[in-house]
Amino acid sequence: MIKRIAIFGSTGSIGTQALEVIEANPDKFSVEILTANSNETLLVEQAIKYNPNIVVIGDELKYTKVKEALANTSVKVFAGEDALKEVAGMDCYDLMLAAIVGFAGLKPTLKAIENKKAIALANKETLVVAGDIVMQKAIENRVPIIPVDSEHSAIFQCLMGETRNRVEKVYLTASGGPFIGRKPNYLVNVKREHALQHPNWEMGAKISVDSATLMNKGLEMIEAKWLFNLKPDQIEVLVHPQSAIHSMVQFEDGSIKAQIGVPDMKLPIQYALAFPARIPNNYPRFSFKKFNEFTFEEPDIKTFKNLALAIEALQKGGNLACIMNAANEIAVYAFLKNRLGFLEMTDVIEKVMGEVKFIDKPTLEDYFDSDADARTLAADIIRL
Ligand code: NDP
Repeated sequence: MIKRIAIFGSTGSIGTQALEVIEANPDKFSVEILTANSNETLLVEQAIKYNPNIVVIGDELKYTKVKEALANTSVKVFAGEDALKEVAGMDCYDLMLAAIVGFAGLKPTLKAIENKKAIALANKETLVVAGDIVMQKAIENRVPIIPVDSEHSAIFQCLMGETRNRVEKVYLTASGGPFIGRKPNYLVNVKREHALQHPNWEMGAKISVDSATLMNKGLEMIEAKWLFNLKPDQIEVLVHPQSAIHSMVQFEDGSIKAQIGVPDMKLPIQYALAFPARIPNNYPRFSFKKFNEFTFEEPDIKTFKNLALAIEALQKGGNLACIMNAANEIAVYAFLKNRLGFLEMTDVIEKVMGEVKFIDKPTLEDYFDSDADARTLAADIIRL
């Protein structure tokens, strides 16, 4: 049976790699929906190449351009934020690859869950913002959420066949990012171009900055809490600069399972799309001769304070992670536009987390309101 795939965020790093996986497996997957925010040129190229049923361009001003470029095809064209949600509610696909970056991914993913479509989840912010509601809806609708993030894919794979066995803890590995070992006197001068140079992974701009500040690892701790129903003290971050072990699970007998592979996102993407099957590929194989040293250290949360803030949000719960995520998104985009320094991102996030009203048991509306309040405050502080 061919699995019909909807890629939300098809023009991004995850989206384009997913299309390579699909192209290599035409007997297993078809492309039904592709979406982008503003990169209409790539979206049109993808539509011509993969002939999906539907494309959506988030930026409504680009609708006419996309529509005209696809006039001689059978591809249906929609535009705008509401269209992203409506299309997620359609029946023409089996699995959504949620690969939009940031809070913008939440509404279409929730709609797909309500529509009983399987989710391959790259967009970690969806769980950071409203993990309790998203997971509850997934249970109610019997929808599998298959992680794409390499660490969570590793944990998911380690848990296969272990449904009856209690997890003692998970070790979430972290490369440490481009500034591993650096101190504030160095970080204060870091610019956009330095932060975008990740040593092991090629990723979109936002997650690259999050990796450089270690906020990404904090977001992943919160993602792991919701995906695997863990308590905060069951999640330990280990800096492992080789990025060979993608994460590990320790069971209550003390035994540890690890998932190992080359750092290539196509592997977890393929695993999530094909789940529960494993399918063959000709990607480079892991070499124990090349990766012949595995090292581990504790993260430096005194220097990389974003991780400390995320741990606070993880422990406190409520809407704090949602507030932190919104402030972080605004701070990262300001940093990318050279409007905010590397270390100043933390100051903004900390201030916003301290000032936006804390809600212990938020509703979905509360999450949307908290996100909006945190964005406004962060933008005011940065004077955007
Ligand atoms: P990119 O920035 O490369 O791509 C983001 C995609 O989302 C693009 O298609 C973009 O469209 C679209 N998009 C951006 N903003 C909006 C919006 N407001 N509304 C609708 N669509 C939007 O990101 P990545 O592919 O790197 O990351 C995607 C997600 O996957 C993130 O949540 C990230 O944390 C997660 N992830 C990524 C990994 C990686 O290796 N890249 C690894 C693990 C997780 P356009 O191109 O038009 O701007």
